[in-house]
Amino acid sequence: MATARLSIDLDAIAANWRRLDSMSAPGTQTGAVVKADAYGCGAGPVAAALARAGARRFFVALAEEAITVRDALGPGPQINVLSGHMPGDARLIRDLDLTPMLNSIEQIMRHAEGLPGHPFGIQLDTGMNRLGLEMSEWEAVAPMVLELGPELIMSHLCCADEPDHPMNDEQLGAFHAMTDGCGVPRSLSATGGILLGERFHFDLTRPGIGLHGARPFAAGLPALRLSLPVIQLREVAEGEIVGYGGTWQAEGPTLVATLSAGYADGLFRALSGQATLWAGDVPCPLIGRVSMDLITVDVSHLESVPDTLDILGPHQRVDDLADIAGTIGYEVMTALGPRYLRTYS
Ligand code: PLP
Repeated sequence: MATARLSIDLDAIAANWRRLDSMSAPGTQTGAVVKADAYGCGAGPVAAALARAGARRFFVALAEEAITVRDALGPGPQINVLSGHMPGDARLIRDLDLTPMLNSIEQIMRHAEGLPGHPFGIQLDTGMNRLGLEMSEWEAVAPMVLELGPELIMSHLCCADEPDHPMNDEQLGAFHAMTDGCGVPRSLSATGGILLGERFHFDLTRPGIGLHGARPFAAGLPALRLSLPVIQLREVAEGEIVGYGGTWQAEGPTLVATLSAGYADGLFRALSGQATLWAGDVPCPLIGRVSMDLITVDVSHLESVPDTLDILGPHQRVDDLADIAGTIGYEVMTALGPRYLRTYS
């Protein structure tokens, strides 16, 4: 059966990690965020490739996500859990040797009682108001927590992809005020913060999207090609319609290719009539509405129709699809569904 194929270029991902690492302040370690299955690319293969490139610290959102990552990495590299120590997580944290980033007094108590002596980090809220201890809470518990020896203190910037946004300096100032002199390694920046410059780097950075060459690190190498199989060709006469709602009508005889992937696979309905498919270097317009499992493409101008057409690749990157769909590269990537055969090179 024809299979839609998501080809992931691990060399490009490793090269992007090295580029980001070389942009970091001297002495700053570069980690890697591989949550959400490494943004849809496969957390195991991506983490293993990054470890070969030199990454020693990895971040996942949930303890369960670390199962694949630890399996791929083996013992040694640190795996930090950004959601901290949730109820029921103790066994995974202990057995997989995870480092939860504790983000509330409740979590600090849970960790100290449930896994006394087990490594942990602390997540502070410097203004994003999403996750982490805020200033007053931190002031109340800092002496006791620092006594327990956290191995990392981190916070997260909310506007780092906008270099001139005043929140960047505001959060930087708050992070200094909360952590200066604490004697613990610190981390503030993801991809956007790396690009803001060395003031934001501290001891460790945590790039995620930049590893895949998407905004805000559009200068990175694209790592994805998504090739969709042509499962039917149909001659459509002038005046006939194509797809749900009859939104596209042929202005002349048209050869329509039906491809096997749709909005259930992350090809947003907002791409209907907007995106381009590529036969090598030749663009072919997506016509009509995106269906759940199918899209339709005008291939009348091709000399011969190939077995597959690309919707992601060198001519149309993740950010291009995001712009067409009115969203962000993060959403395009993490929506790429489980039905694609993922292959690695
Ligand atoms: N750190 C935290 C706490 C995050 O939530 C994220 C992503 O959402 C990252 C790092 C990685 O961010 P980016 O993908 O923008 O590099």
